[in-house]
Amino acid sequence: MKSSLGIIGFPIGHSISPLFQQAALDHLGIDAAYQAWEVKPQEVGEFVAGLREPGVLGINVTVPHKEAVIPYLDEVDQWATTAGAVNTIVNREGRLTGYNTDGLGFLRALLEVNGFAPQGRRALVLGAGGAARGVVLALVREGVGHLTVANRTLSRAERLVQIAQDGGVNSLPIPLAGSALDRAAASADLIVNCTTLGMAHGPDEQGTPLSRQQIPPTALVNDLVYNPKETPLLRLAAQAGAQVLGGIHMLVYQGAASFEMWTGQPAPVPVMLEAASRAMESR
Ligand code: NAP
Repeated sequence: MKSSLGIIGFPIGHSISPLFQQAALDHLGIDAAYQAWEVKPQEVGEFVAGLREPGVLGINVTVPHKEAVIPYLDEVDQWATTAGAVNTIVNREGRLTGYNTDGLGFLRALLEVNGFAPQGRRALVLGAGGAARGVVLALVREGVGHLTVANRTLSRAERLVQIAQDGGVNSLPIPLAGSALDRAAASADLIVNCTTLGMAHGPDEQGTPLSRQQIPPTALVNDLVYNPKETPLLRLAAQAGAQVLGGIHMLVYQGAASFEMWTGQPAPVPVMLEAASRAMESR
């Protein structure tokens, strides 16, 4: 029997996960189909119940269902519990477990693409929404040396910084503008954009949270925005002489971690990355 995998969201048409996950399944000769399902918020419980069927390996979960699926699962792992969000569900003989592979994907991309380990380093996180929360948790877990969170809405940055401080990390909330941002950027080893600035079809497609002058040439700049592949921030960072890392790498590595949980096999990351890049270029 062909096994079943997929992703749920609302809407879901934008997701490139089906393309790179199916490429990985086909590459390894696994007889499974990865689909995209648009699930309305009121249908989440019924949909998740159906995942207990034999032949269903599991699913990915994206916006806006990452919190909503939690009450319908048998267990949720520690990372997903702390994040308050599940992006992967695994079906093991009718028992459903929720995981969050975003933090793992973020860390693996930094390490495997740029050779960057956050331990003891200075990080500047731009934004304080769902993606920033996952990034902050991952940086705290890795023992980042100092963390600044800059956000347009300062109170949200304050809440994230509290999490980092509870985790024993020296950290500071600041507004996403002004001299505090200049100083935080100038001393950062790692800058991560977790805002939607620069995102295609987002609120400000040409926007960038930092100017070229604010980006130090010694930093690694990771933009989580993956559409477009080269965002305005990454363009400026490259011009400033900084190392750059596009959001497609985190996207693929979080998917690779999910793939490994469902199949028990090492994910063919280069195959997934190539399929994801091709999918982005055709959009
Ligand atoms: P979210 O929860 O809606 O958070 C959005 C963030 O962007 C908030 O910090 C918000 O600030 C800020 N923002 C929005 N418009 C702004 C503007 N005009 N000026 C300044 N700041 C603005 O979104 P999310 O889920 O965290 O996603 C953020 C980005 O990360 C998206 O582009 C998403 O595609 C990307 N992402 C990528 C991956 C990956 O695997 N590469 C994974 C997850 C997310 P306020 O708090 O002030 O509203």
